[in-house]
Formats: sequence, C-alpha cells, structure tokens
Amino acid sequence: MTIVHAKHILSPDTILSDQAVAFDEKIVAIDSFDNLLGRYPDAKVIRFEDAVILPTFANPHVHLEFSANTATLSYGDFIPWLNSVIAHREELLTKCDEECIHKAIHAIIESGTSAIGQISSYGEEMEACAKSPLYIRFFNEVIGSNPAVVDAMYASFMERFARSQKLANDRFKADVAIHSPYSVHYILAKKTLEVAKKEECLVSVHFAESRTEREWLDSGTGEFLGFFKKFLNQTKPINEPLRFLQLFEETKNLFVHMVWAKDEEWELIKSFQSSIIHCPISNRLLGNGVLDLQKARPLPYALATDGLSSNYSLNMYEELRAALFVHPRNEAKAFAKELVIHATKIAHQILGFDAGEIAVGKPACLQVVDIPKDLKKLEEIYLHLILHTQSPQKVFIDGTEQK
Ligand SMILES: [Zn+2]
Repeated sequence: MTIVHAKHILSPDTILSDQAVAFDEKIVAIDSFDNLLGRYPDAKVIRFEDAVILPTFANPHVHLEFSANTATLSYGDFIPWLNSVIAHREELLTKCDEECIHKAIHAIIESGTSAIGQISSYGEEMEACAKSPLYIRFFNEVIGSNPAVVDAMYASFMERFARSQKLANDRFKADVAIHSPYSVHYILAKKTLEVAKKEECLVSVHFAESRTEREWLDSGTGEFLGFFKKFLNQTKPINEPLRFLQLFEETKNLFVHMVWAKDEEWELIKSFQSSIIHCPISNRLLGNGVLDLQKARPLPYALATDGLSSNYSLNMYEELRAALFVHPRNEAKAFAKELVIHATKIAHQILGFDAGEIAVGKPACLQVVDIPKDLKKLEEIYLHLILHTQSPQKVFIDGTEQK
C-alpha cells in the first residue's frame, strides 16, 4: 500500500483539499492523511507540499514509428510535409530502432501519460509496446488507394492485426486504423472495417485534416492532383467523403483532426459511435488550421500529440498549452478545466480504459505535479497547472512508481 499526500487532488472534475490517496494497484481510499495512516500504518508514505495529485493523461493518437524525427521533415504546409515524409520515410524508420521506441515511451510516461493510441503502419514496434507499462490501443493501419494493391495491403494488415491480437491483454488491445479517405480504397476500407466490426475493435481514421484534402475529395483539384499523378498515376479522388464515412456506421470510431469537415459530415458522424481527436500542435505545424471545437463538443473529444513526425514533443502539457492558446474565444479558467478533464477522464473513456479519475476502485494511474506557491484562488488551479507544468514530479501506473 502507498499513501500519497499533496495539498490538493483533482478528481479531475472536483478539487479536493487536505486529502490523501491510498492505493495498491487500484485506489483503495481517499481520506485525510491521518485517517489513512491510521488505517494503513505500514503503507509507504509520500508527501508533497505545494503539489496536486491528478489522474495521468491518455494520448489517443501517436505515431511512435516516426519518433526519430526532429528536424528531418518539412513543417509549415501539408504537401511539402507529405513530400518530405515520402522522401525520408525509410531513413526515419530505420533510425527508429528499439532504443528509439523505448525512449519515446519513456518520454510519454515521464510527462504524465499512462495510455496511448498508437497508430502503427508497419508493426515493428508492436512487441516493445506490448511490454511497456503503458495501456495501449494498438491501431494497425491500412493504406492503399490503387485497386491493384488492395489485396496485398489487406494481407499485410491481417498479418499485423493477427500478430497484435496474440499479444492482447487487459492493457494492450489490437485495433484498426484506416489511414484516410484520400489514401484508402473504398473496398480496402470496407473489408478492413468488417474485421473491426467482427472483432469489436476501435477504429481510428484521419479525416478532413487539410485544405488540400478537402479540395481533392470535393473537386479533384488542388495540390493533391499533382501529388497523386506523380506518385500513383491517379487523376481522380478514390472516395466521395460521405459515402466513405458511411462505412463507419457500425464501428466505434476515433475521427482524427476534422479541421476541414463539413456540416453534413459532422451530422453523419454524430449519428455513429464517434469521438473526436484534436491535435492542435500538429495542425498548426502542418499549416492545417484549427478545429472548430464548438462542432466537436457534442461528441466526446480528447487532445493528442500526433507523432514526432508533426510535433516537437509527446508531452501532453505542451498540447494542453497549445489548445489553450489556439482557442482564444473560450474563457481561460473554465476552458483549462475542460481541457484537463478531456485529457484525463474523457480521453480514457474514448480509449475504453478504466483509469483517468481519482476515485476508489479505479486503477492507481496518477501523477503529482507542483503548483505555484502563491496560488490564491483555488478555482484557478487548472489554468496554472497548464501554464506552469513542464513535467510531473511523480508518476504511478497501476500503483507502480514510474518516476
Ligand atoms: Zn496521425
């Protein structure tokens, strides 16, 4: 048994003061420090002064395979970025060996995250993920727009999916990702989603990320025309967006980005089991604009870092700060609280994991973070947590100290 005491606890919805948390793998009790010590006199005790205990984050959209990128890829605009991915993909994948994956996982845990959605293109990182302390939804991704490659791409997906299913347990789940409406042939998407439905997987899909994607899917014009001609000898988009979206009617879906989604697309996905994944830093760095949060709010939404292929960090505190600043019409204090709740409780719910709350019976996945000593108004704690935190002091996953 461990007892952790700090000045405050964010449950995350409510602020508890003068309380401590007792836990083994799960949270056993929340009470005053003296009461808990009386009940568990042999417990290991960790006390903090100006600090707050909150649940660890879930980061539902990362691409660990691209963790070797620092400045190889071109940021600023979507097509130059995509061209740089194509030009340097092999080099980056080769550089991202086991040590690189471990380093990325370590950075994720140290910065207060205990669950991720890993989008996997090739599956080389699968074992390292399954062995890590993280809770992982492992999204095996399909891509392929050319009808001639559909069978081969499906076979590659099935091989990886079967391999990940063998590793599956309470904390590592085999799931499905459809790359996007511009890059996955209708038949390939349909066949893959049938597997997802049958195996009751979560499905992740990039949708309406860039203006370029919008122009291409709506009218077959824009920068994608040259891109598809050059790389795939393709002159027309392969999917009509609404018809493509209808494929997701019977699965549980994570729609990623949604910056350029149209009203009728929002309406359609609201009739499905959908959640929205918002990656403000990635969207900003690739020149894609800002998600309209008002449209996302009727659905469960969470923040994600995306991969190091379109971000400088996998630290959720960076993402929280970015979200705070790219949505200036939201009152800062109330919005900070909303963001913390969505990055913890809601993000875990989206991934189907039980952590994300400091409550009796929940997994003991928690972080302890310093708060400014001069904090006067307790209700401003969420805002100052986002503004001042680089990294937590301590991180526990299922009661085990990770940092
Ligand atoms: Zn992505």
